[in-house]
Amino acid sequence: MKNKFDIFIIGGGINGAGIARDAAGRGFKVYLADKNKVGSATSSWSSKLIHGGLRYLENYEFKLVRESLKEREIISKIASNITKPMPFIIPYSKKLRSKWIIRIGLFLYDNIGGKTSFPKSKKIDLNKKYKGILKEKFSDGFKYYDAQIDDKKLVEMNIEDAKKLGATIVENNKVIEVKRNDFGWEITLENGDLINSNALINASGPWINEIINNVIRVKTKKPIRLVRGSHIITKKLYEEEVAFTLQSDDNRIVFVIPYKNKYSLIGTTEVDVIKPDNPVISDEEQKYLIDVVNNYFFTQISKGDIVETYSGIRPLIEDYKEASKVTRDYIFDLNIQNKNSPLLNIYGGKLTTYRKLSEKVIEKLSPYLPTTKVKNWTASKPL
Ligand SMILES: Cc1cc2nc3c(=O)[nH]c(=O)nc-3n(C[C@H](O)[C@H](O)[C@H](O)COP(=O)(O)OP(=O)(O)OC[C@H]3O[C@@H](n4cnc5c(N)ncnc54)[C@H](O)[C@@H]3O)c2cc1C
Repeated sequence: MKNKFDIFIIGGGINGAGIARDAAGRGFKVYLADKNKVGSATSSWSSKLIHGGLRYLENYEFKLVRESLKEREIISKIASNITKPMPFIIPYSKKLRSKWIIRIGLFLYDNIGGKTSFPKSKKIDLNKKYKGILKEKFSDGFKYYDAQIDDKKLVEMNIEDAKKLGATIVENNKVIEVKRNDFGWEITLENGDLINSNALINASGPWINEIINNVIRVKTKKPIRLVRGSHIITKKLYEEEVAFTLQSDDNRIVFVIPYKNKYSLIGTTEVDVIKPDNPVISDEEQKYLIDVVNNYFFTQISKGDIVETYSGIRPLIEDYKEASKVTRDYIFDLNIQNKNSPLLNIYGGKLTTYRKLSEKVIEKLSPYLPTTKVKNWTASKPL
């Protein structure tokens, strides 16, 4: 068939963009369509961290944390111009996690990812270092490191590379219908274009099940839970280039992170929602974030100090737990009817793990794709 693509990707968030770059670099003919601008959804509304996810250790997610720490190392190198290491302080609070729990967590965090260029964690005296930021009752703390990134730029850089490697990228063009036939997939875009492809990848983030049910029309095996996470932005609460990992009374974590030189980025929340479209922070979420900050910081803030807010939707795999305990790992759902028309649905995931996810996608689809001599290549090639 003329003009047939090897891979069609629905969605140009970080996952779609990463897969497009990886696949195009292996010589596959790739087509990616996004209904809006690439990177305009969840992938630009994150906490902008490339992190192992210290908190996930509490949920015994050792595999995810290990993979994320390894990726933190790799992404800091291949995207060094948009990534910077950031120290994080966990103030110790008597009522919450004990010192030994924090120490065990940090010991694991320092070690399970293997060799790292990030400094090891340590205990610190907050009356000596970073004095005057937190209330005096928070005298003990722990310092560890993660990385801050420009999330939207990360998507755009992957897309630019994918284009250079020959991928076709189309923005503002929704996938409205797909048909499976003996030779692959016929995909209809909103502007009427018909595209033929061998494999179809559903990388539509929080829209995943909407697309499975209404566009692809296959049976979905995995229920998901849509959870809104919101941030507030205030003028910076302190001068130092250091972030805080605050434990809230409900045992969640709220980050306060230096943002664009002049601001503090504060988030997130977890609120179950029905639809993934146009998420907006509620009054309760604003109050929740303000209360956590005011519990710890000398500088007290109120609603009037908020200069901007944003919200994103996490598509979490439903396992009927509290939102903070639901896995942040990704899961693939490979649907095969005949070997010419594989469908891969991608559930969940994190910004941090997009590169590894992309490699695994290619590995999963390789029995159904043309053979290629190019092995895994993205870990050492700067964006
Ligand atoms: C509040 C919050 C904070 C987070 N913080 C972090 C963090 O600090 N670090 C981290 O590693 N991870 C973080 N994450 C997770 C991370 O942001 C997501 O895992 C990641 O952005 C998901 O990318 P994605 O490509 O799957 O989805 P998205 O970025 O949502 O991309 C999906 C794309 O599909 C497109 N699409 C949908 N339907 C169609 C259609 N019919 N046709 C064409 N295109 C379509 C959409 O327009 C969208 O661009 C956070 C998530 C949230 C919600």
